[in-house]
Amino acid sequence: PGNEGRGYVLRRILRRAARYGRKLELKKPFLFKLVERLVQEMSNVFPEIKEKQKYVEKIIKAEEESFNKTLDRGIDLFGQIVEDLKKKNEKTIPGKDLFMLYDTYGFPVDLTNVMAKEIGLEIDEKGFEELMNSQKQRGREASKDKFASVNISTESLEGFELMDKKETLFTGYDELKTNSKIIGRKKEGENELIILDKTPFYVEAGGQIDDLGSLIVEDNNYSVIDVTKIDNEIIHIIETGDDSNLKPGTDTLAKVNEKRRWDIMRNHTATHFMHAAMRQVLGTHVHQAGSYVGPDRLRFDFTHFSKVSDSELKDIETLVNEQLRRNIPLQHHRDTPFEEAKKMGALMFFGDKYGDKVNVVQFGDFTMEFCGGTHVHNSSEIGLFKIISESSISSGVRRIEAVTGAGVERYINRQIEQLKNKEEKLAELAEEKRKIEKEISKLKLKGNLGQISSLLDTPVKMGEINIYKSQVNAESVEQLKSFGDELRNKSKNAVGVLFADIEGKVGIVCVVSDNLIKEKNLSAGKIVGELAKLVGGGGGGRPHLATAGGKDVKAIPDALNKVEEIVKKFLT
Ligand SMILES: [Zn+2]
Repeated sequence: PGNEGRGYVLRRILRRAARYGRKLELKKPFLFKLVERLVQEMSNVFPEIKEKQKYVEKIIKAEEESFNKTLDRGIDLFGQIVEDLKKKNEKTIPGKDLFMLYDTYGFPVDLTNVMAKEIGLEIDEKGFEELMNSQKQRGREASKDKFASVNISTESLEGFELMDKKETLFTGYDELKTNSKIIGRKKEGENELIILDKTPFYVEAGGQIDDLGSLIVEDNNYSVIDVTKIDNEIIHIIETGDDSNLKPGTDTLAKVNEKRRWDIMRNHTATHFMHAAMRQVLGTHVHQAGSYVGPDRLRFDFTHFSKVSDSELKDIETLVNEQLRRNIPLQHHRDTPFEEAKKMGALMFFGDKYGDKVNVVQFGDFTMEFCGGTHVHNSSEIGLFKIISESSISSGVRRIEAVTGAGVERYINRQIEQLKNKEEKLAELAEEKRKIEKEISKLKLKGNLGQISSLLDTPVKMGEINIYKSQVNAESVEQLKSFGDELRNKSKNAVGVLFADIEGKVGIVCVVSDNLIKEKNLSAGKIVGELAKLVGGGGGGRPHLATAGGKDVKAIPDALNKVEEIVKKFLT
């Protein structure tokens, strides 16, 4: 199923059936289950049904699932529309409602028609068509190359000053500049429409966009800003100020913008390789459902029932690049009789129209397809191929966008640029984080030092000696030590003992005032050694300040209680 041609016929049938199912309260996909039955009945006549059974079931189920998502809301909307009409006593569903049902809820107009007939209403199909056409028009305008912004209304050669009615010979497969003769012209508004006897300018077809370039007459250079085809004559649309040179019979050099055309040819040729690679990686059900090939990138739409996974995309990309590096020359079978081309095994698509003579484009044993576009002469001229995105455009149709050649270079540079920006941003954030952490630790230290000043207000007296002891909050042994310094600096005739729980372990610092070291022979190192034993650890240090550690955090209160006892022991 799809949105055009026979694909749309199929979609309409499936959606109508799905809606009948809804009337029977069938809320889950059910049509796909009928494939089994069809295989039983018909596979002796059509063996391919049996061969593709699983695939057909998958496709039908996916179609049902996607329509089911909007079916109920669409039916609700239809009900509202009908209500409104009844109030106004009208019998025709307006085009804009038909279009809304189609565009937002996926209701084919013939389905809405069936639903309307069931309750005796009509539909405004003409109004619907008008809205469809204006949507298509918008789509066409949006997809037009931004350089080629000219819209010519001409659809016939009427009004042309013609000296020859031979159709234009296209030389653009072999060369990008051609000496030719002006054989027809017409002035249209600001523009001059010029027909040449032969030209290298390619007119958009099969997704490959128009060539741009210039016509040179003597020393004058006229920009070709768009091209189009009328009755097999290639029309060059040029901006003219002084048009005196452009008379039929004048010789001219027709020059295609080479760099742009080469980029287009690289991208276009890559679609052949990508198509072949996709059929190998994803399966032969994949076929092209549309494409756009410009100088900057290529876009390829194809039938496939599910998202193409990252590893499949990688496989496709790798396969294409391996083939491109094989240096395969183009085999361009021009003007091959249609039947002969079919016999060669060239890939063609049902539903596409082909003339009696066709062009077949072949690269070795990897790809052979019917194609009228322009191509590089050798696979290696494409350079590299890189897929840049994969997405869904409608149910059962996926889109891959890719770049080649200089496009890959630009893509890589863009990625590097983005990466650099991100790295810079990361460095900025890291710097900011560092500053914030510094600020936080300063604040914490300030808060923690506060613990020491309040401790200084409440000494325990032991005769002359001031004992300061407490469990404090500290982040590290370093910090605990700095608290010890603070305590020692601000106290006199004192012994200070601080305990802390540092990440589940005991930290201890002990300080002793200078006079007590001299007069009483007290030593912080010795005191801390005794305390450490009480918390399952050890340590020591110099007489004025010593630290120790231990394992048993629960023993801290008990150890704190024994501080005086231990100090007393060293006094005697
Ligand atoms: Zn091609």
